[in-house]
Amino acid sequence: MANLFLSLPFEPALESLGAEFYDPVEAASFPLHQLRFRNDALLPILGLDPQTVKDEDFVECFGLFEGVRPFLALRYHGRQIGGYSQIYNPDLGDGRGFLYGQVRGTDGYLYDFGTKGSGQTPYSRRGDGRLTLKGGVREVLAAEALQGLGVTTSRCLSLVETGEDLWRGDEPSPTRSAVMVRFSRSHIRFGTFERLAYLGRPDLITALLDHVIELYYPDLDLSQGERREVYQQWYRQLVGRVARLAAQWMTAGFCHGVLNTDNMSITGESFDYGPYGFIPAYNPRFVAAYFDSEGLYSFGNQPAICRLNLEHLQRALTSVIPLEDSAPALEAFDEEYRDAYQALLLARLGFDSELSPDLGGKLFAQTLLCLAQSQTNYPQFFSRLTQDFNPSWRENPAFILENQDLGNGDWNDWRALYHQALGELTPDGLTQIPLRLQSKNPATALLRPEIERVWAAIDEGDDWEPFNDLVRRLQAPPTNSLLNGR
Ligand code: AMP
Ligand code: MG
Repeated sequence: MANLFLSLPFEPALESLGAEFYDPVEAASFPLHQLRFRNDALLPILGLDPQTVKDEDFVECFGLFEGVRPFLALRYHGRQIGGYSQIYNPDLGDGRGFLYGQVRGTDGYLYDFGTKGSGQTPYSRRGDGRLTLKGGVREVLAAEALQGLGVTTSRCLSLVETGEDLWRGDEPSPTRSAVMVRFSRSHIRFGTFERLAYLGRPDLITALLDHVIELYYPDLDLSQGERREVYQQWYRQLVGRVARLAAQWMTAGFCHGVLNTDNMSITGESFDYGPYGFIPAYNPRFVAAYFDSEGLYSFGNQPAICRLNLEHLQRALTSVIPLEDSAPALEAFDEEYRDAYQALLLARLGFDSELSPDLGGKLFAQTLLCLAQSQTNYPQFFSRLTQDFNPSWRENPAFILENQDLGNGDWNDWRALYHQALGELTPDGLTQIPLRLQSKNPATALLRPEIERVWAAIDEGDDWEPFNDLVRRLQAPPTNSLLNGR
């Protein structure tokens, strides 16, 4: 049977914008094409049945042999980390990856296949255009873990080992090479717009903005009403999406690590996982990237940086959206973020929007306070709550997580609030809690030692089973003893 990937409904959406937005490039040729990961969970979105797709299909399509289709290195700039602040860098663009193609999913949305590690481009600067296998493994794992935690994220479709030796300062070297294919809503970044502002091209900003609205903001309609109003609404929606994304990261305990404006998607989707880290315990000062010595992109700084990046974008767009139109949306960021964070954290505790706002606010604050005081294991706190939850907790606050050592903190105050919250529920609401806890709190966490354990097996014995097993566990629905029987 023919390769099913090659018959997908590809659409040249970005290409249709014109040559100002990209450079045609070719993939490097590699000595090896060994499929190491295939994400079968994504195939149904492409209308494909995993049973019918062979490993060779992945390699043939995404091993990046020459001449399959024109690949596009996208042009963008960005504000990048520079000590305590960000520094504008006009020398960016896809330096080790490219847009492989865009495909309409069965859900009606347009998706990008983007490569990482596929060779040099005009934007590689002094880089080799490659991705380390460990970097690919880490990105696969990050995306699957975030998906399980309800974060709007790109995913990895495939990872192919490519047989080269790479030298890196942050990995024992030589280290192995790979090409990863990313599956995401878009590779258009805040920095794509910043570049156009830098070049003084409001015409191209308008074209790109219209493209973004048409493809990624389907409830806005440029053919109806005033253009200026639609643009204003678009910026408001973007601010809302980014505020929710920041809240999702904070709730998940995820520190992206490199929140440069070229790593901020215009769709509000999380993507590009390099030196990220999940927090082992709640600590706003947790830093993921080894080069972030000032903690600019620390865990707790993420909402403020997201807001700052939205402000950079706002300024880049002034030729098309006057500041007075975008300012109110930006001002609403803090409140939107805070509301979203509270709702998402309460959801991890099992509550929907049914709690009275006052109690919801108190429980939210007390949860963070106790997690910070006690430094109890952050993901484990939620998985234990999920495992142990019992309706009898409504009878007596002392029953709540009674067999767990949560460490030193005002946990009895927390228990009193959690108990009060259970007391506000209807009997039907109470029966919903285990299901909600289960849907929000995965049993498997992706802390650094887990990643290192999986990598050591690959590195030392070419044993991929721990990695495959971890992916399976990250993709598995979480469990609760009440629902699954003890
Ligand atoms: P990142 O930190 O992965 O978001 O990358 C920032 C910029 O550096 C992007 O333009 C990348 O394409 C580029 N880049 C990162 N690593 C390499 C590499 N090994 N070779 C070429 N370009 C790279
Ligand atoms: Mg990047």
